Amino acid sequence: MIRQYSLAKDSNRKLAPSFSAREFRCRDGTDTVMVDEALTVVLQCIREHFGKPVVITSGYRTAAHNAVVGGAKSSQHLLGRAADIRVPGVSVEDVAAYAESLMPDWGGVGRYPVKAGRATGWVHVDTRANKSRWTL
Ligand SMILES: [Zn+2]
Repeated sequence: MIRQYSLAKDSNRKLAPSFSAREFRCRDGTDTVMVDEALTVVLQCIREHFGKPVVITSGYRTAAHNAVVGGAKSSQHLLGRAADIRVPGVSVEDVAAYAESLMPDWGGVGRYPVKAGRATGWVHVDTRANKSRWTL
């Protein structure tokens, strides 16, 4: 179930025990925030498995912002079904492998490891129906 929130009204609203609506906001400041409930469940599982904060660097994106950041045209971020995350002190591989264990035959998991020109790695997690895996 994809739900719609208002950053102005729901900023501090808890969507899961460790996640507030504002953490999923579009970084262009748009008031509307779309978030799939299933995504908050997956992220909460990751939070509890590692026992560390899950930092969301990109959640919901408007089409305009998605274009600015070079996102795929049919990005799951546009639907509120995706989050780019990192868990401080935990490797991209370990976060991605655990996310995959939560969604063995569905969902998207993308690995974005540290490399030249990329100081910080991250993992993309989304709740699409069909299984998708990639490394970029
Ligand atoms: Zn992403």
